[in-house]
Amino acid sequence: MRRFNIIFGAAAMVLPIAASAEVICALGGGPSAAKPSSYNSAADERPSPDTMKIVLRVDAAYAPFCLPKCPEAAMFRNPTAPNLMLAVYPEGGKMVYAPAFFSSVYGKYGEAGMIALIAHVYGHAIDETTPSNWIPTNWNRELRADAWAGCAAAKAGLSASDLAAALGAMSAYPPPSQAVWGRRVPAVRLGYTHCGGETAKFDAASSGTKSK
Ligand SMILES: [Zn+2]
Repeated sequence: MRRFNIIFGAAAMVLPIAASAEVICALGGGPSAAKPSSYNSAADERPSPDTMKIVLRVDAAYAPFCLPKCPEAAMFRNPTAPNLMLAVYPEGGKMVYAPAFFSSVYGKYGEAGMIALIAHVYGHAIDETTPSNWIPTNWNRELRADAWAGCAAAKAGLSASDLAAALGAMSAYPPPSQAVWGRRVPAVRLGYTHCGGETAKFDAASSGTKSK
């Protein structure tokens, strides 16, 4: 089993450990999204090398914030998984993606789109473990994960066109409980600008995404 922190490391997942499986986030959208209930962990496989490279970019973007160590989650590919999900099991945290979903995201939005989606889902784990007094306390956990994803997008140094692709992927594959993109934009924007991204660059990139 390949363990990411999603960096490589030995720390236990710092998310509250569930007595049974608890799905923290499962992205929806797209024609083929499986339900979390159809996920069969027996079909877990190691991520593809290309995906692991992208995960490392997300890790690097978050690394400055989760000192001394980032929360650990094991990453898997699994054709029975929902698009991309984070779940907590008695043995620890796990991120699982459907390979067909990642292929589709890569085809439409490139590496930047995958960075943004992974950064959102892993952002839930970051949010559980990292102080973030810059995020309004009354935001729900999806908006908080979006703020962290915006932060990661800034730290990843995405170009203007990559930032637009990242936001396009986020709007196309929302968490079902927070599907309205217009409500999510301010959260992503806050994280992006808080972590050093330029406001004007974000606004130009987000103007191309559908406001649903
Ligand atoms: Zn989420």
